[in-house]
Amino acid sequence: MSIWEQGVKIPSFSKLDKNKKVNVLIIGGGFSGIHSLYKLKEEKNICLVEANTLGCGVSKNTTGKLTYLQDSTLGYLIKKGKLNEAKLYFKSQMNGIQEYLKIIKEEKINCNLEKVSSYLVTNQEKYISDLEQIKEFLKGEGVLVKDAIPEKSLHFLAGICVLNTYVFHPLKFLKGIIEKLLNQEIYENTRIVTINKIQDHYECITEEGITIFAQKVIVACHYPFFLFPYFLPIKTSIEKSYIIAKKVSENLKYSYITMESPSISSRFYQDGDQIYQLILGKSHSTSVFQNDLQNFHEVKEENQMEEESIVCSWSNVDIKTFDHMPFIGELKENLYLITGFETWGMIQSVVSANIIKDLIEKKHSEFIDFFSPKRALIKKIICSPFYLALNGYSFLKSKFYQKDWYSSNVTFYRKNGKLLASVQDEKGIHVVNPVCPHMKCGLIYNEKEKTWDCPCHSSKFDIDGKVLKGPTKISISFIEK
Ligand SMILES: Cc1cc2nc3c(=O)[nH]c(=O)nc-3n(C[C@H](O)[C@H](O)[C@H](O)COP(=O)(O)OP(=O)(O)OC[C@H]3O[C@@H](n4cnc5c(N)ncnc54)[C@H](O)[C@@H]3O)c2cc1C
Repeated sequence: MSIWEQGVKIPSFSKLDKNKKVNVLIIGGGFSGIHSLYKLKEEKNICLVEANTLGCGVSKNTTGKLTYLQDSTLGYLIKKGKLNEAKLYFKSQMNGIQEYLKIIKEEKINCNLEKVSSYLVTNQEKYISDLEQIKEFLKGEGVLVKDAIPEKSLHFLAGICVLNTYVFHPLKFLKGIIEKLLNQEIYENTRIVTINKIQDHYECITEEGITIFAQKVIVACHYPFFLFPYFLPIKTSIEKSYIIAKKVSENLKYSYITMESPSISSRFYQDGDQIYQLILGKSHSTSVFQNDLQNFHEVKEENQMEEESIVCSWSNVDIKTFDHMPFIGELKENLYLITGFETWGMIQSVVSANIIKDLIEKKHSEFIDFFSPKRALIKKIICSPFYLALNGYSFLKSKFYQKDWYSSNVTFYRKNGKLLASVQDEKGIHVVNPVCPHMKCGLIYNEKEKTWDCPCHSSKFDIDGKVLKGPTKISISFIEK
């Protein structure tokens, strides 16, 4: 459980139990789906379906920073000398932050919003010129930016600081906005498994065979459950990070992120008298390495955290794209995609909702082509061998080293030629077929979360094989006949 889940009850909705005809269908009830529904709420006949419960995906495990001082995307564009793109990207993020402030104020959402200083810091000489470039760029955009590090005791070599950024409680925000959408059609425990284009509409079929006939479909389910169109595996990789929340005595009202890879990121969170500091570290591509217990241990050790101060720890994954920019826009006629947030999806999701609204209403926006999934075709083609190799590597590693990849108490065996794996816990023995139905990668047992995780595309199953997170849509439970 992340710290955000504690004591926050998001409204619940029933499951879809009969066929429906809608104008717009939104698939996925995380930040992307909910912001889209909020933006499009005046639209007639719109519906959102969520495979599990609203906010149960990547969104509940974020660090909840609302900042444009982002290491990856903005820094990448500036470093590459793509200043016009950096300007547009910066503008989109500033708009996104303003939009949050507006929604929170207008809807009176109590989500522990705090204005804080954001720092981008480094411990290595080689990043100092990059920091300088980012600083000059921001100054050019009229931002008050200074050379500074958050605290002397952190011993960073250099850093820059901006003032007008925020942190908030992501699930309280989600709860607040969902409470304003109670009159909308929302269905939980409704997983879409197939989308077919039939003449001028889409038939979206749930795992129980119920069909939603939709004129327009917004795919906001983090990693799409279909391979075509777009075939995401050759355009993206998955990054996983580890977060620990500890009790502290003072809210220092700053957040920071380091330039180094893996980066360290931190923020404070105050709930009444209780103050916590969140520290994120050990980010890595899931294709090359997975061992949650070890990674949490290292985050704890490297940040000298005392066991007694730790309140909770959790991991999270997000999708990195070939050019560090999200994929937001039309995939094919009336089918829209929102994904690839590079760990900055709080703001990107509100930016996405605006873009999709403009597309649906056939309005012009400077962001439509900029974030379009169809952009930079040549670059995508050039990058695809890299992603193909990464996918191939994790596929082969997960097949040949499945047993050794993650030290654990799992027993692998074959029955009638079928690979099975059993794990024993206090409730008994749990048997699954440890192969991801999405693209047949071997699954890794995650001792900390008691889940089966796919190293290739981030699907996740519970100890009994039930799907917790896509792209997979099929369970891996094994029932002895
Ligand atoms: C470690 C970490 C820290 C982060 N910190 C920050 C931060 O500080 N600031 C920031 O801006 N961003 C941050 N992010 C990024 C941000 O959390 C994510 O980009 C964002 O939450 C993604 O939201 P989403 O709605 O796209 O995905 P999700 O929250 O995963 O929502 C997708 C939903 O779709 C549902 N679904 C899936 N398949 C189907 C289906 N077939 N049918 C129906 N429903 C389906 C899922 O159950 C899920 O609820 C962080 C990310 C990570 C990994």
